[in-house]
Amino acid sequence: MLIVSACLAGVQCRYNGQDFLIPEVAELVKTGQALPLCPEILAGLATPRPCVEQCGGRFLTIKGEDLTSEYRDGAKTALKIARLVGCKTAILKSKSPTCGCGVIYDGTFSGTLTAGDGILCTLLKQEKIKVCTENKFRLSNIAGDKLLSEQPPDIQR
Ligand code: SF4
Repeated sequence: MLIVSACLAGVQCRYNGQDFLIPEVAELVKTGQALPLCPEILAGLATPRPCVEQCGGRFLTIKGEDLTSEYRDGAKTALKIARLVGCKTAILKSKSPTCGCGVIYDGTFSGTLTAGDGILCTLLKQEKIKVCTENKFRLSNIAGDKLLSEQPPDIQR
């Protein structure tokens, strides 16, 4: 079973109340191959909600409110669900402080990116679950690679 960031499947759960629909991801959910999860919603955060970035290991809003505890709790709950469904691979929304994979915003709220993982991505990697962004997933599809195969070629570990 795959898990996917819920916003990629069309759930309007992003901080700005929008989704980030990737039709190919939504199709995986519709056909029962993937489970959509949003750790920030699992943490009990509202939608819409303030934009948050990782800053020195903390999760801060632009006004400096510290939501680290909520972000950790949401990611831990999502990890428990991933374990429950036997998740081996995850498709995660790029750049997010929670779901980002390899590259995230740098904590200055200036649109600047830096190397790093969202907190859910970090937990999934620790669990040896393969993770990729929607961008890598789409490239994989275009190239005709099989994401669900044992060793997908473009999945980050
Ligand atoms: Fe999407 Fe993840 Fe942000 Fe939820 S936490 S809105 S699933 S990127």
